[in-house]
Amino acid sequence: MIRDPKHEQMSRGDLEKLQLERLKAIVAYVAEKSPYYQRAFKERGIKPGDVQSLKDITKLPFTSKLDFRDNYPFGLLAVPMDEVVRVHSSSGTTGKPVIAPYTQKDIDTWSEIMARTLATAGVNKDDVLQNAYGYGLFTGGLGFHYGAECLGASVIPTGGGNTKRQILLMQDLGTTVITCTPSYSLILNETALEMGVDIRESKLRVGVFGAEPWSEQMRKDIQGKMGISAINIYGLTEIIGPGVSTECPYQCGMHIAEDHFLAEIINPETGEQLPYGETGELVLTTLTKEAQPVMRFRTKDITSLNPEPCECGRTHVRMSRITGRTDDMLVIKGVNVFPSQIESVLLDVEGVEPHYMIVVDRQEGFKSDYLEVWVEVSDDVFSDEMQKMESLEAKLRAEMDSVLAIAAKIKLVEPKTIARTEGKAKRVFDRSELPDT
Ligand code: AMP
Ligand code: ZN
Repeated sequence: MIRDPKHEQMSRGDLEKLQLERLKAIVAYVAEKSPYYQRAFKERGIKPGDVQSLKDITKLPFTSKLDFRDNYPFGLLAVPMDEVVRVHSSSGTTGKPVIAPYTQKDIDTWSEIMARTLATAGVNKDDVLQNAYGYGLFTGGLGFHYGAECLGASVIPTGGGNTKRQILLMQDLGTTVITCTPSYSLILNETALEMGVDIRESKLRVGVFGAEPWSEQMRKDIQGKMGISAINIYGLTEIIGPGVSTECPYQCGMHIAEDHFLAEIINPETGEQLPYGETGELVLTTLTKEAQPVMRFRTKDITSLNPEPCECGRTHVRMSRITGRTDDMLVIKGVNVFPSQIESVLLDVEGVEPHYMIVVDRQEGFKSDYLEVWVEVSDDVFSDEMQKMESLEAKLRAEMDSVLAIAAKIKLVEPKTIARTEGKAKRVFDRSELPDT
């Protein structure tokens, strides 16, 4: 169901008109209210009136994660603190966290965007939605929670963890929609099987999965194992949290909520804007946020945009599955490779489970001469004769070489030996972080 046809089915022309109107307004707003952008604009001699077309956005400076850190905690805030009703934060891996404050209007906008997002994923008010994203500072838990309530679905706010109880509730309360990271959905399924429960026979029909990279192969695996439609959703703390984009049931790219977020693709090296269809770094500008609007945020996420009409009838552009981040690219003996490419190769091979670890020697940043992949095998393969394990290992080595042109050492491990995480999975490890083996 299309919740907001007026905005979701606007002609591209009308949508661009609306975006320009909102862009001009938000640029004037930050120039007046945000000390950070006042400074940034002044340093570059930018006046709000310089933006007269959507293309003029390129006159504005980029904002990066570093700018958030340097202006921690509230340097980008554009309203007095007494108008802030909630603050989220993302931990990141290094340095200070990113702080995301919201006004009441921002919370209302976000809830509506998330309601629309869930409707796009195929969820409706009759659904029982179990929200297993983490509640707390992370935007996932409360973002989905408010959105699902706004849609009118029955929300079960389990949060992450306590997996056995999740399965019990899922059965007893008749959960039809699960929301969590894709990696946690696999843990849910594994635990269900241990409890003698086949999720395929339950009422569960849709999973709305995001917050971490996952491959098309992983989707197939989850859909097959759980008998659900596994929908990809994307978002990030700096922009609003979940809800920036999501797939419709056609599963052919994530529709960006373009009436709220202006998307560009740039060449990450030169910063130059790229046309539709080309792959590069996603840059986002918030058009409607009040507490902390962000101009041209460099997400570091790599994708491309497709403006072609979608079968679902929505006109908003679709971004392709994130293939990697500019800061998670590994360089193995001079060959560039993203962890998600390794995942795709692994999961294309029969007998491999979607639990793996990539081990590199990061003494020189992301460059490594060494790549080892630990991957779990299925119960069948593991209990079979040794020869089968050896041929699987050889096959994986050959696939890594032929598809990605990298020589990897493959280590097959027993089912359920790779650590499971309830939130975002960690896939890449430095050799020094390895458990002693
Ligand atoms: P956070 O702000 O902590 O929620 O993290 C946001 C980041 O998570 C994004 O910049 C992406 O790198 C990643 N992310 C979120 N959703 C997805 C998704 N559906 N696919 C791949 N990566 C994602
Ligand atoms: Zn669609």
